[in-house]
Amino acid sequence: MTIRPRDDVALMEGYHSPQVTVRVRLNTNEAPEPPPASWEADLAQAMATIDWHRYPDRGADALRAAIGGLHGVGPEQVFPANGSNEVLQTVLLTYGGPGRTAAVWEPTYALHSHIARLTGTGVAEGERGTDFSIDLAEVRRVLDGARPSVAFLCSPNNPTGVVDPEEVVREVLAMTAAIDCLLVVDEAYGQFAPWTALDLVGDDVPLVVTRTFSKTWSMAAARLGYLVGPSWIVDDLFKVVLPYHLDAAKQVAGTLALDHRDAMDARVERLVAERRRLIAALEQLPVDVWPSGANFVLFRPRATDGGPGDQARGDQVWQGLLDRSVLVRNCASWPRLAGCLRVTIGTPDEDDAFLDALRETLT
Ligand SMILES: *Cc1c(COP(=O)(O)O)cnc(C)c1O
Repeated sequence: MTIRPRDDVALMEGYHSPQVTVRVRLNTNEAPEPPPASWEADLAQAMATIDWHRYPDRGADALRAAIGGLHGVGPEQVFPANGSNEVLQTVLLTYGGPGRTAAVWEPTYALHSHIARLTGTGVAEGERGTDFSIDLAEVRRVLDGARPSVAFLCSPNNPTGVVDPEEVVREVLAMTAAIDCLLVVDEAYGQFAPWTALDLVGDDVPLVVTRTFSKTWSMAAARLGYLVGPSWIVDDLFKVVLPYHLDAAKQVAGTLALDHRDAMDARVERLVAERRRLIAALEQLPVDVWPSGANFVLFRPRATDGGPGDQARGDQVWQGLLDRSVLVRNCASWPRLAGCLRVTIGTPDEDDAFLDALRETLT
């Protein structure tokens, strides 16, 4: 007997990011520090008050009000879900689907096109420039050609770290709005960047901005993310997402976290300073480094003769780091990123361990 998945699913590869036990884990852009101890204490207390025999608040009202408060919008403009990946999935289930198309500009976050395909949405792939910036003529070409229902930007972009400038996002928004296409700006790393597209959100603007608790908020284990957008879009999304999708513990965890904004801001500052230090150190080594507005840095080890790096060299350096118990993200085989590796900013000790291991591997 064979139970076959859908034909398109049978051809898919799924999500690959090895979870191996190492001394220094710098591969998934998590925060290097746990959340504040006072949050853990508050959470333990709050857990004792949960009515476990009852379904949780379906509309997650307290959490949405707290998130809205953080961004100066009402709760009706906030849609939370189990990680921002579930937010993206709900957006695509609602506005994508068979016969519709989502536009992406590569290289970018692989889950945008992957989740689109899972929801039966066609994918129109555009290219970023050689410096990984958004090229407005290329945006125009893809929008005119594919007439997508949804378009994705990711700023700061994963895995390159590039921040799309405000003028560029405004131009893309004008173009997508003109063809009744929803623009999604994925700001998973928004706190590390110099500006935010949250300022462009309005009830008459076809734009949503997604954020996550997984990175800055040191809560990857909680699986909590959200978008901010027009209230009518939030209403549509609530029709599609499963009822009671956010469990009671997570709603409390997220609401309480927002009481610790100062601690989070301080972490972001530490990571940005550490990013500066790490980039300066990488610039002294035989690697090419890209500027970053996120909590990670993309780099490409040069060939042993000093020439440009390639996939084999990237794989070799990635393995050399792993042999020294340092795990980074191996992008060496990814299209447009041949030979590249991505390292998450860690604690100063972790970053020193990474730099030591890299120096050894490169010599
Ligand atoms: C890490 C990341 C996310 C998401 O994650 P969740 O953990 O699902 O909230 C979303 N977008 C980008 C670009 C990311 O790098």
